[in-house]
Amino acid sequence: MFINGRIIKEIALSSGADQVGITTAEPLFYMKERLENRKKEHRITPFETSEPYSRIKPGLLLQDCQSIITIAAPYAAAEHPVPQKTAEPTGKVARCARSLDYHVLIETLCRQIIKGLQQEFGTGFEYRILCDRSPLLERELVSNSGLGLIGENCTLINHRYGSYTALGTILTTLAFEPDQPEGKHCMQCGRCREACPTGALLAPYIINPYLCLSYLTQASGCFPRTMRSKMDRQIYGCDICQEICPHNQDAKCSPIPEMAFSFFPAKPLLLPLLRLTQKEFKTTINLTSAGWRGKTILQRNAVIALGNIKDPHTVKPLAAILKNDNRAIIRLHTAWALGRIRNGKALFALEKAYHNDPDLEVRKEAKLALQEN
Ligand code: SF4
Ligand code: SF4
Repeated sequence: MFINGRIIKEIALSSGADQVGITTAEPLFYMKERLENRKKEHRITPFETSEPYSRIKPGLLLQDCQSIITIAAPYAAAEHPVPQKTAEPTGKVARCARSLDYHVLIETLCRQIIKGLQQEFGTGFEYRILCDRSPLLERELVSNSGLGLIGENCTLINHRYGSYTALGTILTTLAFEPDQPEGKHCMQCGRCREACPTGALLAPYIINPYLCLSYLTQASGCFPRTMRSKMDRQIYGCDICQEICPHNQDAKCSPIPEMAFSFFPAKPLLLPLLRLTQKEFKTTINLTSAGWRGKTILQRNAVIALGNIKDPHTVKPLAAILKNDNRAIIRLHTAWALGRIRNGKALFALEKAYHNDPDLEVRKEAKLALQEN
C-alpha cells in the first residue's frame, strides 16, 4: 500500500522547493548496457565508479529502500554582477559555480523534507540523502520521477527551470506512490553538439568526459596540452551546450534567495585571481561548488585562459609567476601561456625557465613553448 506523495510536495513547497518528484527503488537494469559501453570505451572518469550495480541498485545504498524522493533545485540567478566594461582579461565561470554551493542548498532542502516527514510519520523510517557524490544514476532517477527530460547534451532538462538545476535524491524506506516520467527525450535539434567547442558530445546522449571542459576544468594535475587552447576563457565548468539549448531559452531563474548572491563572478578578472590569498579564497569561491577543487586548480585554469587571451600586458605578471611561484603545476601552465603570447619578453622568461627551473616537467614545457610557433 503506497502513501500518497502529496504530503512530500507540500512539505517541499513550504521549504522553497517546487520541483519534487517520487520514483520507485526498482533497479535501473535498462542502464546496465550503457554503463558497460562507457567502461569499454574508457569514458568513465576518476570521479565515478566503474562497477555498474552500485550505480543502478538503490537498495545497495539503503537496505529496504522503497521510494526515492527527487529534487531539481534551480541555481541560475537572474543576473550576477559582472565587472564594468574593462580592458583587463576576464575568465568565464559556469552558472552552477557562482552562488552558494548547490550541494549545501540540496542538503538543506532535503533535511527540511525529512523533518516534515518525521513530523508526519514519526522517526521509525530510514533515509539517505544523496547529491552528486554517490554512485547512483541520480539524473535518471530524477527523470523517472517526472521532473524532466534527458537532453542530447546529457543534462536533465526541467520544464520550468531548464537544465540549470542541481539534482538531489532521498532514498527512504517509506513507500510513496511514484510519479510518472514526463517523457524521455529533448527536442533533439542537435544544436548542443554543434556548439560544443571540443567535440565532447560524440553522439546524442553520449559524452566523452575527457573532452568536456566541465570535467577538465575540475580535474587535477596537468591540463591536457591539446585541450588547453579549446578551453578558451572557461576557468570553471562550461555552459555552452546549455546556453544554446532551446529548452533553456524561456527557463525561469532561480527564485531561491540564496542563489541570487554571487561569490564567484560570472566573468572574474584573471590577474587578481592569480593573486588571491587563501583567506580571500575561503570567504568567496570556497563557498561555491567550485570551492572543493581548491585555489591551485582554478589558478592553473586562469593561467591557461591568459595564454588563450594573449594580452601582451600580462607577460610581466606571468613571467614573475614562472620565476617565483613555488607550485610546479602553476609554473608549467604559465610556461605554456607565455609560449602562446610569444613576444620577446615572454620568450626571454621561457629561456630562463628552460635553463633554471628546478622541476624537470616545467623545463620540458618551457622547451616545447620555445619551439612552437
Ligand atoms: S559542457 Fe562544454 S565542453 Fe562539455 S559537452 Fe557541453 S559544450 Fe561541450
Ligand atoms: S540543444 Fe537540442 S539536442 Fe541539445 S539538449 Fe537541447 S533540445 Fe536536445
